[in-house]
Amino acid sequence: MNSSTTSMAVPDEGRPLVTPRTLTLACIATLALAWGWLPEFTVAVLSNIGLYALVAVGLVMLTGVGGMTSFGQAAFVGMGAYATAWLCTSPEAASWLGGIAGTALAPWAGLLLGLVLTFGLAWALGAVTLKLSGHYLPLCTIAWGLSLYFLLGNMAFLGGQTGITGVPPLVVAGVSLATPRALGVVVWAVLLLALWALHNLLDSREGRAIRALKGGRLMAESMGVDTARHRIKLFVLAALLAAVSGWLYAHLQRFVNPTPFHLNIGIELLFMAVVGGAGHLWGAVLGAALITLLKEKLQDLLPALLGTSGNFEVVVFGLLMLFVLQRFADGLWPTLARVARRWVRPVAPAPVGAALLSAQLAQRQLPAKGTLLLQAEAVSKRFGGLVANDAISLRLHAGEVHALIGPNGAGKSTFFNMVSGVADPTSGTVQLLGAAMAGQPSRAFAARGMGRTFQHVRLLGQRSVLENVALGAHLRGRRGWLAAMLRLDRSEEAALLAEARRQIERCGLGAHADTPAAALSLGQQRVVEIARALAGQPAVLLLDEPAAGLRHLEKRALSDLLVQLRAEGLGILVVEHDMEFVMNLADRITVLEFGRVIASGTPAQVQADPRVLEAYLGGADDELLEAAR
Ligand code: ADP
Ligand code: MG
Repeated sequence: MNSSTTSMAVPDEGRPLVTPRTLTLACIATLALAWGWLPEFTVAVLSNIGLYALVAVGLVMLTGVGGMTSFGQAAFVGMGAYATAWLCTSPEAASWLGGIAGTALAPWAGLLLGLVLTFGLAWALGAVTLKLSGHYLPLCTIAWGLSLYFLLGNMAFLGGQTGITGVPPLVVAGVSLATPRALGVVVWAVLLLALWALHNLLDSREGRAIRALKGGRLMAESMGVDTARHRIKLFVLAALLAAVSGWLYAHLQRFVNPTPFHLNIGIELLFMAVVGGAGHLWGAVLGAALITLLKEKLQDLLPALLGTSGNFEVVVFGLLMLFVLQRFADGLWPTLARVARRWVRPVAPAPVGAALLSAQLAQRQLPAKGTLLLQAEAVSKRFGGLVANDAISLRLHAGEVHALIGPNGAGKSTFFNMVSGVADPTSGTVQLLGAAMAGQPSRAFAARGMGRTFQHVRLLGQRSVLENVALGAHLRGRRGWLAAMLRLDRSEEAALLAEARRQIERCGLGAHADTPAAALSLGQQRVVEIARALAGQPAVLLLDEPAAGLRHLEKRALSDLLVQLRAEGLGILVVEHDMEFVMNLADRITVLEFGRVIASGTPAQVQADPRVLEAYLGGADDELLEAAR
């Protein structure tokens, strides 16, 4: 209804007092000003919160945003801590590194060593474990979390269970950061920097791809995203943040032993991310603060209440966690943000001129009309004994709408999956713009010029229509993770969003661009999928039941859009049950029944074909006869 107006402009009654940015800066300034005057103990606790939050924010990215649960993060903290502790204290390291050990440079070499080791290990572990799905992945993180812990505790050169003492303080520009008050500044500076970079990352082309990892991988692959690679990169990023936290920890404590890197702590870290708000970066800071303070309080309070006969903290702690997760399934941050919305509200960014921008994006030269775009030769698919597709051949040319029709279960969606790289044919070949596509993943089809929609809508429901559509333009941008983190991608990002907005308007959904996709009707969501496919500037468009759920006028608008796209030279392959829609639009029709082509030709030829009439009369569906009249 008026959702677009509420999300864009600031309504009169509730003009926000501050924007989130102003509030954040004010909080940071307050903390910075108070830092020198806070009591020693408070500063130590705040430093610990910063260290935990640095790991938890990686877990928010990994678990909350990326959908990969890890219990083993404490082990990476241990890697970072032990690497620097060993390098700064061991005689072997001193002899290997010549002059560096024992100097102010040693901790920096330790940081480098920790990052390199963690990078290698996380990449290797990720490559093996991230292929697992469901609960196997978290189980696996428990396994290697435990292994690494015992490894740290059993290696003689790392001091066994006693650990390593005499870790030197960090020295920056001649100033020794030996106290929490001094090093805490670095901890919080690193944390704030990480929050800023991750916020930027999520607000970018690559960020949209990352958000699709949780529950949208098949869709993202069809938009050209290499999801396996993104998962590993996210895993490595979270591990590196943990390693940096470990490095700071080692130089804060000035000694290390295995205890703080146990699986227990890994579980606590995951709690922090989840309790704070699994999908929200600042939730990590909130969760780290709450759990650290809670543990402090419980340690004081419980012995006084219940006596010292047992370790009741763990029990009470667990019960409190249960309560929080039960009451606030998405963590506390969203609740806090909802309460604060009366005073704090984001200001909508000013729209950018579209025409100038889109020149920056990769442009595809559409093939001339009549060019053979998609060629399936004798494509078959068997599921055990069932032949879902039996030697189907089909050609799609530029500037043509080709409809694939047939009763339910005829094999239409199976065929779509094979000509879009989602499934491999059992036999037969598929060529896209002249290239053999055997064994290629769906993102290779996207890269060669295929755009598609899904029979069962696949959108990121919580994200805006604009973001969903912009994901379709993924392959037209180039900027990577680092550029996004450092905000070097702004003009490309503006171009991508402008292009997405253009496609949304073209599809008639301009008023809904800033609405969460899930708030739209199912019919509108199908149109969002078409806009998303168009944002990739495809030469071939595959539409699986695009008119289902649309009202009469919406169907006509969709039909007009497809006619226009055909005139521009796109080749469109469409599966659709609405016979009136198909007969008025299609240039050619292929009819499937029980996995076989039973007729193929112009709408008039197909309508006159006795086998087609038979197939449709035999089924529950006599729409074809109606349309033929
Ligand atoms: P349509 O889209 O025309 O309704 P489908 O392509 O979805 O038909 O299905 C064709 C046949 O293949 C159906 O009998 C269906 O049950 C079967 N089928 C589809 N996918 C699978 C699968 N992954 N495993 C086993 N059978 C399948
Ligand atoms: Mg189907």
